[in-house]
Amino acid sequence: MNSPAKKRLTLRKHEELRLLSGHQWVFSNEVGTVEGSPKAGDLVEVVRHDGKYIATAMYHPHSLIAARILTRENEEVDFHFFERRIRAALALREKMFPHSSVYRVVHGESDFLPGLIVDRYNEYLSVQTFSAGMDSRLTLICDVLVSIFSPRAIVERNEAPLRELEDLPQRKGVLRGTAEPTIVEIDGLKFRVDVLEGQKTGFYLDQRLNRTAIVPFADGAAVLDCFSNEGGFGLHASRAGAARVECVDSSRAALDKAAVNAKLNALDRLTFRCEDSFAVLSEAVGQKRQFDIVVLDPPSFTKSRKTVATALRGYRELNTAALRLLRPGGVLATASCSHHVTEEAFLNVVAESAVKAGRAIRMLRMNGASPDHPTLPAMPETAYLKFGLFSVD
Ligand code: SAH
Repeated sequence: MNSPAKKRLTLRKHEELRLLSGHQWVFSNEVGTVEGSPKAGDLVEVVRHDGKYIATAMYHPHSLIAARILTRENEEVDFHFFERRIRAALALREKMFPHSSVYRVVHGESDFLPGLIVDRYNEYLSVQTFSAGMDSRLTLICDVLVSIFSPRAIVERNEAPLRELEDLPQRKGVLRGTAEPTIVEIDGLKFRVDVLEGQKTGFYLDQRLNRTAIVPFADGAAVLDCFSNEGGFGLHASRAGAARVECVDSSRAALDKAAVNAKLNALDRLTFRCEDSFAVLSEAVGQKRQFDIVVLDPPSFTKSRKTVATALRGYRELNTAALRLLRPGGVLATASCSHHVTEEAFLNVVAESAVKAGRAIRMLRMNGASPDHPTLPAMPETAYLKFGLFSVD
């Protein structure tokens, strides 16, 4: 067995337990010694305090995450390594979405490729790297992606502020081929996806199955889709026979795309309001307006544990207003993508909001992200999305 990691990180005594249970990060306070002067992104052998091999990992000298495990097999980390991992990730998606070529192919840590995201939109791939280790291997990763997918283009959407934690600059651009907007079909609806200009990697794939959860309630419904972005929820409701759908988003560009998507699907009972969802909800309550479905899918309200209380206040305000607007028999579809807000805390907020709004609610479903965004039970950091569907009496 050859040993590709000539550099070595020795853990402090007993700090291997979390890693052995399936977690993939070594935090900086767990590091005993580092030999061989590894630089950001270099491979290191992670060993127990007594020198026993645990894993090969990507190192970072300044990040709180000192090392991210790539393999526990002491194998070569080369083209074939990435090819095996990405093919395995793809095989899982092809089973879950057999009639689709639109999904998240690689979901970072959950696909054992820490800090790497790859989304597929037909012949276009959109890539993000959140770790210095993945970032420095981007050319190799593109070579692998070309050999597996023969894509028309690979773009990088490396504008996420999270990259700063690994001293990585913000970047966006075409890495291979020529990027052009493409029309994708997701669950029977067409969406125009611009891999270079859309939010995140081009489109929000994580809510895919949650969008279809409102379909059974949509026939004849009046729908308020708050934080609609490019219209994911609203378009599904409209196609399922909603009488009218109001999409609210503060981004004009997102709403313009939603309007294009509505046209693509020949749906015309939607209106698009470029406004603050908080203001729209409170105005609608003041006007005693009523809806059959209200969707709340706000952006993350907190990036750190310190501001969770403020985030919860935000969710409480939104959910209370939404519940006041729903007719008896109506449905609330409510989400939180704030990583630091637990499912329990989120459910508590919805329950408190129901009391405040004077409504009785029943939970019909509680979901996470779509299964092309798997989570690792041993690594709570890999879960972020909470989506609840409630009927309102
Ligand atoms: N529901 C969407 C995804 C929503 S992402 C889907 O299914 O694809 C969150 C959206 O909230 C973004 O489009 C962002 O532009 C919008 N947004 C952020 N703050 C807002 C606010 N105060 N009012 C309205 N929209 C807001």
